[in-house]
Amino acid sequence: MNHREKVTDLIKSFDYSDFKWIDPHQIIVSQWVRTKCMFGCGEFGHNACCPPNTPTVAECERFFQEYSDAVIFRFAKKVGKPEDRHKWSRKVNMELLKLERAVFLSGFERAFLLFMDSCCICNECAGVRNQCSQPRMARPAPEAMAVDVYSTVRRFGFPVEVRTDYSQTMNRYAFLLVH
Ligand code: SF4
Repeated sequence: MNHREKVTDLIKSFDYSDFKWIDPHQIIVSQWVRTKCMFGCGEFGHNACCPPNTPTVAECERFFQEYSDAVIFRFAKKVGKPEDRHKWSRKVNMELLKLERAVFLSGFERAFLLFMDSCCICNECAGVRNQCSQPRMARPAPEAMAVDVYSTVRRFGFPVEVRTDYSQTMNRYAFLLVH
């Protein structure tokens, strides 16, 4: 059994079905993503897993180059109110963390998860890394690692569109760097 088959079995044991293996060197890292974090996102400086608490764009690029295999997971959802998103995100991300741990324990020491949304484990985020209340569990979202999620997931055939209101289905993406 090769490593993809081994990890795929684990992924399926967690009941995930909407995922694809990818070459992490194909993940698109862009300066514009970081710029939009800095100007236009209310989490900048207020979330311990978001910029400026994440590596520089150049370091993010280097990080992805160090891996040779990764998985993208798609999660589709409609929420009644914008604030309902956080409860859903927390649940999905906590489950993904269990998978990351299982992959790590099965021999993939580099296993590292990028949450499908900014970390919202706590109701109130500490805002700075060294005051994070769950440092062992908190992970950045792909965008916080400067990933151009739109271009990257399209490259692998996943659907993604800018939503114009909350009545539309969201397509959110988590990444698991494996090997
Ligand atoms: S675990 Fe809590 S304090 Fe740490 S980044 Fe997530 S929300 Fe913020």
